[in-house]
Amino acid sequence: MWIRSITKMTIIAVALFVCLSCTPEKKTGFRILTAGIRHESNTFIPYLTTAADFTILRGSDATQGRAWAKFLVNEGMEVIPTLHAIGSASGVVSKDTYEAFRDEILEALRAAGSVDGIFLDMHGALHVEGYPDAQADFIQQIRKITGEDVVIAASFDLHGNISREFIDGLNIVSAYRTAPHVDGEGTRVRTVRMLVEALRNDLLPRTAHVSLPILIPGEKGITSVEPLKSFYKRLHEISRMEGFMDASIFVGMPWTDVNRAGMSVQVVAQDDRHLPVAQGQAEALANAIWRERARLKFDVPTASIDEAIKTALEAQDSTVFITDSGDNVTAGAAGDGTLVLERLLAHNVSNAILAGIVDPEAVKQCVAAGIGAKVNLSVGGKIDNVFSKPLTITCTELRLTKEQPDSKQPDAVLQVDGVTLVLLSRHRAFTEPAHFHAMESDPLDYKIVVVKEGYLFQGLRDIAPRAIMALTPGFANQLMENIEYKHVRRPIFPLDPNMTWSAGNIMHN
Ligand SMILES: [Zn+2]
Repeated sequence: MWIRSITKMTIIAVALFVCLSCTPEKKTGFRILTAGIRHESNTFIPYLTTAADFTILRGSDATQGRAWAKFLVNEGMEVIPTLHAIGSASGVVSKDTYEAFRDEILEALRAAGSVDGIFLDMHGALHVEGYPDAQADFIQQIRKITGEDVVIAASFDLHGNISREFIDGLNIVSAYRTAPHVDGEGTRVRTVRMLVEALRNDLLPRTAHVSLPILIPGEKGITSVEPLKSFYKRLHEISRMEGFMDASIFVGMPWTDVNRAGMSVQVVAQDDRHLPVAQGQAEALANAIWRERARLKFDVPTASIDEAIKTALEAQDSTVFITDSGDNVTAGAAGDGTLVLERLLAHNVSNAILAGIVDPEAVKQCVAAGIGAKVNLSVGGKIDNVFSKPLTITCTELRLTKEQPDSKQPDAVLQVDGVTLVLLSRHRAFTEPAHFHAMESDPLDYKIVVVKEGYLFQGLRDIAPRAIMALTPGFANQLMENIEYKHVRRPIFPLDPNMTWSAGNIMHN
């Protein structure tokens, strides 16, 4: 009897153990592959962007020190980093470059075997030579391998131009909510957090999308200025609504002459069931933005370059920042336009700094001449030979500096009459005080500070007593009305100011 009870108990215990082992445990760790092609392509620039223009990170280099990767690891996810190509704004990406990036990512995806989720780190304004919509191609090629059940989440800069075809391949879409941008990494963390949430709760999110026929430069899309300020605030409210995960407004990139260029609105529904309501919310928000389109204006005074210089010279006791907006390097323009230098010299300004003009050849001549030398140079106008031309100057070489202590090429700081000119060995923008400090200058020591951007980036905005945006010619012309577009959809605001539109009239656009 006693032995029989023991046996019986053992059988029950074994059965219980077997039964418990049979119960499917909720999976907590998932395999997440990561990749990205982050580029903002300006189609007006007459030269292509190639692999050499990108920072290419592979494997652990792509995740090292990145908050989004740390988040995934802390959540117990298995992270499989592949290629992350990151480039600053420039010309259309060459076909070979894009295909090499894409194929390497696809090959890594095949090699990874079964994955549960994918995180894509994108900009959203990628345009590739020979492809009508390379971003759509990219996601469609990925889906051919993964099928529809793998959750794909992508983060974006809000200056992306997003098509319906691209969105259809993605489950989760999330864009920056600040311009000037201060939430890049925060957006990437938010995106992977949603990805983990979807995997843990067995959700297959869907993103509602409305494309708005509005084409504005980022300088009219500052998120801390009304009317966008209120619209971006609404994104938080929409994201918290039942059945939704996130919401985004893309301001768009107007210097990409493609039919998907322009503003758009996205609302991420946690599943198919909530998609129609999400579409309704996206349409309501798009309609509200459309009604306020005339209020999307520059938030700083604008002027011709001559007027800007005159105003700055008249300003009492304060530094005035002037942005050379047509040659805005952060929008992909060449950065070697000479018009502003020529006008500063013509106005005989006595205390200005221009940071900078891209001209690696002239920098080499400065290196050869040596510090303190008086040199004659032909600067700029070599990359942008459409809106600019080289300018011959006689200058004194003040110093050679480096962008980073380990930079291979130096930059040259020159004095041309009353203008301190920074000649750059590579295409880059001065967007924060540290960039000036690296070349041993304090911008506030000057009466006029010229940088090649449109809106002042946050770091300079914080210190600038005054700013004027000079409406200069170039590949980043701020006046959409003066650009000869061939491929943007029509009608579109402001090119067709009398058009009417309503998101409610369309289901999918
Ligand atoms: Zn941007």
